[in-house]
Amino acid sequence: MIDTKNIYSELFDKQKANQFVVGNSSYNERIEKLKRLKHAIENTYKQDIREALYEDFKKPHLETDLTEIYPVINEINFVRKNLKSWLKKQWVDTPLALLGSSSFIMNEPKGVCLIISPWNYPINLTFGPLVSAIAAGNTVIIKPSEMTPNTSKLMAKIVSELFEESEIALVEGEVEVSQELLKLPFNHIFFTGSPAVGKIVMKAASEHLTSVTLELGGKSPTIIDDASHLEKTVKKIVYGKFTNAGQTCIAPDYVLLKSNLKSKFIEIFKAKVLEFYSENTENSESYCRIVNRKHFERLVSHIEDAKSNKSTIASGGTYNATDNFIEPTLVFNSPEDSKLMQEEIFGPILPLITYETIEEAVAYVNSREKPLALYIFSKNNKVIDFVLKNTRAGSTCVNHNLLQFLNHNLPFGGSNNSGIGNSHGYFGFLEFINQRSVLKQHTLGAVDLLTPPYTNWKQRLVDLTIKWF
Ligand code: NAD
Repeated sequence: MIDTKNIYSELFDKQKANQFVVGNSSYNERIEKLKRLKHAIENTYKQDIREALYEDFKKPHLETDLTEIYPVINEINFVRKNLKSWLKKQWVDTPLALLGSSSFIMNEPKGVCLIISPWNYPINLTFGPLVSAIAAGNTVIIKPSEMTPNTSKLMAKIVSELFEESEIALVEGEVEVSQELLKLPFNHIFFTGSPAVGKIVMKAASEHLTSVTLELGGKSPTIIDDASHLEKTVKKIVYGKFTNAGQTCIAPDYVLLKSNLKSKFIEIFKAKVLEFYSENTENSESYCRIVNRKHFERLVSHIEDAKSNKSTIASGGTYNATDNFIEPTLVFNSPEDSKLMQEEIFGPILPLITYETIEEAVAYVNSREKPLALYIFSKNNKVIDFVLKNTRAGSTCVNHNLLQFLNHNLPFGGSNNSGIGNSHGYFGFLEFINQRSVLKQHTLGAVDLLTPPYTNWKQRLVDLTIKWF
């Protein structure tokens, strides 16, 4: 029997021994690595990536290009434009009391890092953080999800072709592999996944006081306030919700709708689903499948619950176990204590809840955990402002959904239950570095005059320092 425990600790030791070589790599060397990764994703393996994701859950090629390949290429391009300035020493002022010294901040790599990624956007959420880790000069062990085996296998091939394992390595396997890896004293763990597993990761990290980035999930609310652009609003929501069949961390989880808009919303919803996925969604080449039987059954149980409780299925509701197909489904009147309203849905089911006043909608949002994303559809700036100021969330997109993920000038992350830390651009880079402060003394300073024995004139000098400097 292979002693996997030893394999991982040997790999870890190899990377640990190599961390200063990688950490001291030049700007050009880091850019070279990123170019190699870009070429592999954009050219050499583009078709393989599309096919692997189609194999894993019938993800349409266009969706793969837009939501898996494009964000990683975009991240690489952004880093290439900015890395030079991020790697520079940042000189900062030194107070007069420390006259004779200068100070700077050095962005040093954290060291040996672990990236654990989920299955729902496997390329995007594995290689995206990897770009930040490479830019920061770390060595990395990656553990992708076992639920998209074809994509994980392909990523292992890409990583082993592009990098030495003493620098970047990918290990495939079940949850037990993560559990073994989590025992090792990594310098940083970047985890993307559910809040429940996030807690396990944080607990394991605490053993070694390893810093963590936790990109988690939860129920992301979508508030619709006015009728003026309902057609466009519902179109955007149907797109945001059913891309990747709702298996998106920032997909609208449920809609909070002004009560007078309900019947119009349902009518437009049905029309948009028809327009996007045709009469027979199951045959549509634009709609993917649920990733596996376990998740399919979890989602079907929500639909069956809705049929047996007081809920109304306003649209959709059919499914087919043969290939884990679930129709885009709209549910109205879901009881508050139903699983649908208690758990992150992470699938193509959209509950609709009505409200009378915006205060009521905000109170509903605030009665739950802080969401990863909160969406507001309104033309009224006062309402938008009110919602922004009176709720908490990782990110917000006003009058659209999902798009906030694509701007690398914005940090992407959650807050408390939806996450700790950020990814993307400079914010992602910061997660993988330690801002080391350096104070360099050039000449004798005032503090050197204050060593014991403490005399009266030294006391006066301290008094003056407190008063004036
Ligand atoms: P998950 O938490 O089940 O698994 C994520 C990773 O953790 C996988 O690689 C898995 O192998 C590993 N893992 C699972 N159980 C583990 C355990 N007990 N110990 C150690 N490792 C373990 O998540 P998932 O099902 O892959 O993804 C769905 C979740 O991820 C949703 O909650 C979604 O909202 C969230 N998510 C968040 C983001 C974000 O950027 N914030 C992005 C995508 C998905």
